Amino acid sequence: MSTELEHAHYLCIGCPLGCRLEVDAIDGEVVEVRGHSCKRGKEFAVQEHTDPRRFVTTTVRIEGGRWPRLPVKTADSVPKGRVEDVARALHELALTAPVAMGDVVLADVLGTGVDVVATRDLPLRG
Ligand code: SF4
Repeated sequence: MSTELEHAHYLCIGCPLGCRLEVDAIDGEVVEVRGHSCKRGKEFAVQEHTDPRRFVTTTVRIEGGRWPRLPVKTADSVPKGRVEDVARALHELALTAPVAMGDVVLADVLGTGVDVVATRDLPLRG
């Protein structure tokens, strides 16, 4: 049975310090993290190596509203590999005003289990 050793580098995005993280892993399992200045950085390194995830923030078309586009974001992070698909799904979405901040505008986007929510009120035009 062969053992695969991995060595990877990540930039922590947990705070403006931007610590440079080093990860050692064996067969995909993280065995050591270096370069972090706090617990959050260590957790980020493990997550980034095993299951990288990102929030998606964008705007979508909306009919009948005071403005033509509504800012939205995913309520939680989605797998990094699905970010482009989620952005494409939101590009194709067309909503109807009014919408309130926090409203779910797309539930369980692409089966990720994550909802997309409005990040501001968008009242009717008038
Ligand atoms: S490891 Fe901690 S201190 Fe360093 S960038 Fe990440 S969150 Fe900030």
